[in-house]
Amino acid sequence: MRQKINRRFTGIALFSVVITTIVMTAVFYSQLKKQVFSDLAVVADLLIAEGSFTQKTDNLRITLIDAGGKVLFDSTADEQSLANHLDRPEIAEAVSSGSGMGIRKSDTLSESVFYYAKKLDNGQILRVGKEAHSVVAVLLSALPMVFTTALLLAVICLMVSHYLTSAIVKPIDEMAGDMEHIDEGKSYPELIPFTRKIRLQHEEILSAANIRQEFTANVSHELKTPLAAISGYAELMESGLVDEKEVKRFSGEIRKSAARLLTLINDIIKLSQLDAGDAKDILDVVNLAELTKESVEMLSYGAAKNGIDVVYEGDDQADVHIGKELAQELIYNLVENAIRYNKPNGQVTVKVQKKGTQIIFSVEDTGIGIPPEHQERIFERFYRVDKSRSKELGGTGLGLAIVKHICNLTDADITLMSKPGVGTKISIVWGRGSFV
Ligand code: ADP
Repeated sequence: MRQKINRRFTGIALFSVVITTIVMTAVFYSQLKKQVFSDLAVVADLLIAEGSFTQKTDNLRITLIDAGGKVLFDSTADEQSLANHLDRPEIAEAVSSGSGMGIRKSDTLSESVFYYAKKLDNGQILRVGKEAHSVVAVLLSALPMVFTTALLLAVICLMVSHYLTSAIVKPIDEMAGDMEHIDEGKSYPELIPFTRKIRLQHEEILSAANIRQEFTANVSHELKTPLAAISGYAELMESGLVDEKEVKRFSGEIRKSAARLLTLINDIIKLSQLDAGDAKDILDVVNLAELTKESVEMLSYGAAKNGIDVVYEGDDQADVHIGKELAQELIYNLVENAIRYNKPNGQVTVKVQKKGTQIIFSVEDTGIGIPPEHQERIFERFYRVDKSRSKELGGTGLGLAIVKHICNLTDADITLMSKPGVGTKISIVWGRGSFV
């Protein structure tokens, strides 16, 4: 950028210098021409006042012509040899309007000549001429001065453009060097939208990095607990100090911890796949109603053992661009939660309904509910209202985070309604925006 600005400035400056030089020279020449003619007019007037035209001068040509164009006298040529002068423009002009001017290559002299002609009272024409080389010499003598000035100006322009470029680029350089205070308006107002955007992206990157770091720390912590249990029980049994009955119980604990590790690892893998955006390729259309009905049937067996009734109500056909794998993930996570956080002999109602272009999936339970202060946060990774209860029931704290992720991926809106002691309803709607 610096180079580009500098180049432009230099270009403009040099262009201006060249144009100024040309214009100045042209103006100077035209002034000089005017001056020459006015000098010639003065000379002519002087000669007229003196009344003697027939004198020889070094650098002036004096010609006297009669009203018919015949040359009566010429200071530089033999008047006999000169043709009728009435057709000379300056003479013609003087005849018609009293005085005339012209610059011409003289027939007699090989130089260009400046002519001034004036009509006398007796009808004769007095013409005074001055050779151009003397005028050009004046012009040439001024040229070195003109070029020196132009060169000086060019050098000054180069220096100023260099300085201006630095002054323009400096705030941007400073901005790039100090991202933290990018928004404090030290730079150009025009750049504020960009600086805001950069700052926002900066913050987003930082916050994403923080979330990832926090997640990694949580994952390590979550994995440690079941591993420590497995290792502890195994160590006790290894020592041989545990009796037969305890061995059975410890083996059960080890199996439970291992199972917990497996579900945890599965959930973590699912989340990172969703984070990586791998799932987006497999969002084919599935009949969500059919799939939900099947899943409810499978889950209801286990729930029935705990006296919980899971039923499906709703349509038979509802197509959603979600892919079978993500659909099952969503259904299982929500229905399992509704069973897990239910009360004895509780009820779970699962529905898939088609309303116009919208498809609504909902899971409602008559369970323990979620206190209002926790409702915002339960979609965060590893957030649980009651940690020990969740763990006891085989929860990982990742289920709702996965559900939310799937909703984002498939352009769905998710809403939660819950009342402690009464129950919870989670609804997901597709097609509220442009998605159908
Ligand atoms: P978890 O594996 O612990 O169930 P989730 O992410 O699925 O993790 O849910 C987070 C927390 O939200 C749960 O620990 C629980 O406290 C609360 N929760 C989720 N669903 C329900 C529900 N249907 N009723 C009551 N509380 C719920």
